[in-house]
Amino acid sequence: MKGLFKTFRSRLFLSYLVLSAAVLGSAFLLVYHKIENVELSALKAKLSDEAALLSARLTTNDLASPKINELAHSLGERVHCRVTIIAAGGRVLADSELDEAGVKGMENHAHRPEVMGAMAGRPAYAMRTSATLGKEMLYAAYPVRVSGGRTEAAARFSVPATDIAAAREPLRRSLLAALAIALLLSFLLSLLVSAGLTRPFNKIIYASKKFAAGDFGYRIQKDFHGEIGKLAETLNSMAASIEENLRRVELQSQQLSAAFTGMAEGVLMTGADSRIISVNPALERMLGLRAADAVSRPLLEVVPSARLSEICARVVEGASPVSGEAEFSVPVRGVFGVNASPVFTGGRVSGCMVLMRDVTEARRLDATRRDFVANVSHELKTPLTAIKGSAETLLDGALEDREHGPQFARSIYEQASRLDNIVSDLLKLSSLESPQAAVRKERVELRMFADSVIKSLAPAFAPRKAEVTNEIPAGLCAQADPEKLKQVLINLLDNAVKFCAGAPKVSLTAEELPGAVRVTVTDNGIGIPASHLPRVFERFYRVDKARSREMGGTGLGLSIVRHVVELHGGSVGAESAEGAGSRFWFTLPPEKMK
Ligand code: ADP
Repeated sequence: MKGLFKTFRSRLFLSYLVLSAAVLGSAFLLVYHKIENVELSALKAKLSDEAALLSARLTTNDLASPKINELAHSLGERVHCRVTIIAAGGRVLADSELDEAGVKGMENHAHRPEVMGAMAGRPAYAMRTSATLGKEMLYAAYPVRVSGGRTEAAARFSVPATDIAAAREPLRRSLLAALAIALLLSFLLSLLVSAGLTRPFNKIIYASKKFAAGDFGYRIQKDFHGEIGKLAETLNSMAASIEENLRRVELQSQQLSAAFTGMAEGVLMTGADSRIISVNPALERMLGLRAADAVSRPLLEVVPSARLSEICARVVEGASPVSGEAEFSVPVRGVFGVNASPVFTGGRVSGCMVLMRDVTEARRLDATRRDFVANVSHELKTPLTAIKGSAETLLDGALEDREHGPQFARSIYEQASRLDNIVSDLLKLSSLESPQAAVRKERVELRMFADSVIKSLAPAFAPRKAEVTNEIPAGLCAQADPEKLKQVLINLLDNAVKFCAGAPKVSLTAEELPGAVRVTVTDNGIGIPASHLPRVFERFYRVDKARSREMGGTGLGLSIVRHVVELHGGSVGAESAEGAGSRFWFTLPPEKMK
């Protein structure tokens, strides 16, 4: 009930109702009052006419005769009220309700206000409670001018107020009924008008709720005009423009999000407080972290790199991009190229966008290349120095020395051969590393193939009395480039014989593994200390440099083996212990004999 008049509709309805009730009530009162006056005036006019008629019929003698009382009686009957005729001095001459004796007993009326007025020659009226009847009475007194002369008496009519009211009652009832009908009609009209006026507002309120809930596709049905129509039109066009803007923003955000997600580079956004706002999938992969774990944590906590944090701080402070490199070991070890740019919101730096590239491999390759150049230079420098020394000695006179001269010439030849070996191994390596390096794989029956390689090496192994046994099962095949596979076997067999103190015993075995064929070369040589074993496949790595050189090694043989095997999609490995021989193995893609 309390909230009943809170709605616009009920207030409007109530206002209409109160307004129409006030107007109708006032109209009723005005009309009622007016009619009351008109009635009274009509009564007064009627009584005035009767008084004038009486004046015309009376003579001065009549006033003094007993006939006057009869006259008052007949007049009283006709006008249905009490008629009293009073002489100029106030003595009552006749009364329609009394006989002559009664009239004589009446008190002097000279001081009655209406009588005084009439005696003064004009109609006079008074309303008071009658002393005789005890009722509210209207007294109307008129001068009686006998034969049109001066006022010699007053004719007074007494009408009970209840009679006047009773006469007015039907009229009052009709007016009240009209008022009730009018009020009922205004009630219904108020209901209709308030409902009619509030319907558009309800529609607008409904639409506003829809817009507030984000449904900007909703439109207000425009079936009303004027200001509310304009309001509906404005709301509709506002919703349309918001919908369009939202669509555009959504599209942009989708494009940005697609770029952010699909970028190959790692992207990281931080706020001005250095807390992480977002991380893209590439960075998740790069740093091995999950966006959900990183977001809203301080950057330094997630990536403990003072350098990275310093770059971000400089970007936020200077509001300009900063590039650099950061090396850290948590969450992953590596070197990362960093391009950081400020993010502006409302003209102020609100954060920092960091693009990160993993340059660990590039830096490692740089370092390897540097090492390689240094190693190559060093490897070439040694034989060159020896050649130069021998040549100088020959030029300085040893050429003529028949005894020692040829020794220097032999040294020059040996060092030149060494240089030749190094250069040809380097050329093999570079051709294997080149992007065009191609392996022409074919089916190779391993036992027969190994036999032919062993045979080709026999002359070289003969001085060492090397015993090479081929234990590869017949019929075992692999997919391989024969030319390159031959190089692998030569290098491994050569090492097996080379790094053996006594009589070399070398065996070649092969077995089938799931998805690969593994070939193993086992020797009874000097073995490799455990600390050196992991590095023997590196370029120029030698356990004993002097011994390797003495044997004509370049330190590139195992490197070539690894490259060839990896080009075939296989892997290499070695097991050894110092003085206990070595076992070198490699795998190749399998190919079964039909
Ligand atoms: P090189 O044989 O020309 O010195 P490699 O790359 O073939 O170079 O071998 C690297 C090093 O690995 C050798 O210098 C040697 O110290 C060690 N090594 C290789 N094969 C054997 C083996 N079968 N037994 C012992 N040591 C070996």
